[in-house]
Amino acid sequence: MSKIILTGDRPTGKLHIGHYAGSIRKRLELQNTDFDKMYVMIADSQALTDNFSNPSKVRDNVMEVALDYLSCGIDPKKVTIFVQSMIPELTEYTFYFLNLVTLSRLERNPTVKSELKQKEFETSIPVGFLCYPVSQAADITLFEANLIPVGDDQLPMIEQTNEIVRKFNSLYGDTLKECEAVLPENEKSFRLPGIDGKNKMSKSLGNCIYLADDSKTVYEKVMKMYTDPNHINVNDPGQIEGNVVFIYLDVFANDSHFEKYLPEFKNLNELKEAYQKGGVGDVKIKKFLYNVLEELLTPIREKRQELENNLDYVYDVLKEGSKEARVVAKENLKKLKHAIKIDYFD
Ligand code: ATP
Ligand code: MG
Repeated sequence: MSKIILTGDRPTGKLHIGHYAGSIRKRLELQNTDFDKMYVMIADSQALTDNFSNPSKVRDNVMEVALDYLSCGIDPKKVTIFVQSMIPELTEYTFYFLNLVTLSRLERNPTVKSELKQKEFETSIPVGFLCYPVSQAADITLFEANLIPVGDDQLPMIEQTNEIVRKFNSLYGDTLKECEAVLPENEKSFRLPGIDGKNKMSKSLGNCIYLADDSKTVYEKVMKMYTDPNHINVNDPGQIEGNVVFIYLDVFANDSHFEKYLPEFKNLNELKEAYQKGGVGDVKIKKFLYNVLEELLTPIREKRQELENNLDYVYDVLKEGSKEARVVAKENLKKLKHAIKIDYFD
């Protein structure tokens, strides 16, 4: 079976360390494996479904997300990076898929449900927003992708995509392929919480540490982080569960970080034990986390600065990638229309 990988991000803001943990780290790993094709899509059309009144925000962030990709090391020689709206075939796919989904099914999608609540649309839900899982099914199937590296908030989308695929194939003959999510190995990376510890880290919620944040900002955000509200004195026993600092350490720290920045502990388990017993202060664990994050973010930040002085190159990557993706899209749309018997003049 061919191995076609596709993922994407909404250009609603710069990318954050939740993206890194949930999806980018996996993409970097996958781009060095054997595959037939790998796509990374900047989902500007999808971003417009809940930002339609703010097109400049979406436009500006297309570039920011592209800068983040390249700064992290996504390699345009291996990966086709493209902009969703540059592929009009996607809207055709979406249009035909809309017939295969019921309104109640869309309303039951748990990710959409929680996003609707957050956005406080009340009773005026834009149809486009409610239908974005259908357009996501189009993104995946148009490129015949079968491996989708995502965080776990995307699992309902994958499920819905596969339902559409099965429905389509049963009505129009075997045409589309089912896909599967590729989740990070570390369960804590599935859905990194924001620095407030309340919700998942999300561009729309303002609880993020961005890949592009400068050192001072990272330091301030780490120092503000939610820990254990009952751990008031250093000697009080501390709680690990729900403690955002420890969740981040679980995701980002390894033994070599301890050797470099906190040699009095060998590894995270030792630190956790000591913290739970009492005697380890929050400032100490936060400073350690700051060092761990800085080790990850410094090279990304430096690469970003370099690329910011060469925006023409970044534009070219997007333009070329979109051109390449379009060739595949045109070809596959023909197959879809043939299956639905609307290929009159071919
Ligand atoms: P928005 O608030 O606009 O929805 P977002 O921060 O949720 O933005 P998306 O562009 O929707 O980011 O998500 C892109 C990818 O990153 C998806 O695969 C998603 O699962 C993953 N992702 C987003 N946030 C997190 C997180 N906090 N932890 C792990 N993965 C995440
Ligand atoms: Mg999201």
